[in-house]
Amino acid sequence: MDYRKLFLVEAGKRLKLAKMDPGYCGKHVSEKQSKAETEKYCGKLNKLQYLLYAEARQSLLIVLQAMDAGGKDGTVAHAMSTMNPIGTVVTSFKQPTTEDLKHDFLWRVHSHVPAKGMVSVFNRSHYEDVLVVRVHNLVPKDIWATRYSAINDFEKLLWRQNGTRIIKFFLYISKEEQLKRFAARLEDPARNWKISEDDYREREFWDDYMKAYEAVFRKTSTEHAPWYIIPANHKWFRNLAISQIVAETFEDMGIRTPKPQVDLELIKRQYHEAEEQEVTAKPKLARDGKLKMKK
Ligand code: ATP
Ligand code: MG
Repeated sequence: MDYRKLFLVEAGKRLKLAKMDPGYCGKHVSEKQSKAETEKYCGKLNKLQYLLYAEARQSLLIVLQAMDAGGKDGTVAHAMSTMNPIGTVVTSFKQPTTEDLKHDFLWRVHSHVPAKGMVSVFNRSHYEDVLVVRVHNLVPKDIWATRYSAINDFEKLLWRQNGTRIIKFFLYISKEEQLKRFAARLEDPARNWKISEDDYREREFWDDYMKAYEAVFRKTSTEHAPWYIIPANHKWFRNLAISQIVAETFEDMGIRTPKPQVDLELIKRQYHEAEEQEVTAKPKLARDGKLKMKK
């Protein structure tokens, strides 16, 4: 199945999240059954990411958005475990600091976009400024309403000026699944630290968030920076779909093995052949030395 087609939000398309199934897993039935396919994509992803690093000509930005307990951390862990850490950076965007708030909303984001050769993952992102900010009226409407086009311009700038491919994932879980995950965090001492009262408070605004997300998809899914809505109730299916989409995005980027920076023949002659000759000449010298010593 081509998940890049199935889960893509077409530019300008109006959609209703309520009509989509967060429990979807296609023909797949379990983690065990889908493991081989996921591993195939992870293998591809691993090779191409290291090649992207070596090539150092373009970059990839992966944006992750979800409701609380939607699986952002798990997705980061899965996706990043398949990549070479030398070419990756993860940035989590929490509540803005007072310094952040003294600037425009993209100020704190821009310095974290990927350099050439790198993959950056945003765990939450500049989209919070049209999600939580819109839901809670943290700035007046005439301010947040103009942010969609500012975001599109910003993402276009990254693409045009620095060859940054952008893919944006919404990990879509159901409200029931969220409650289940909160309960599991309450029950598991190893995960108690993950639960906060804020999570429950934000849950009250579920419908407002869904509306805010729908506006984001309609206004900011573009050809060079598309949104994918990933059914995420099943973590293993989420990982399968995302690894396929990331691997195929890499394939699309036309990443090439960099050309050698030196004359390989010259290097071979100057260093390897010269040294080999020295090595073959050595036993004779050593023998002469030995004979001399014996005298
Ligand atoms: P976890 O899965 O560990 O809970 P998290 O991303 O929810 O991760 P938290 O520290 O719980 O991390 O929450 C961060 C909070 O910061 C979120 O509620 C998010 O909406 C909020 N936030 C992020 N960016 C902004 C922003 N630009 N303006 C206001 N709030 C923001
Ligand atoms: Mg949280």
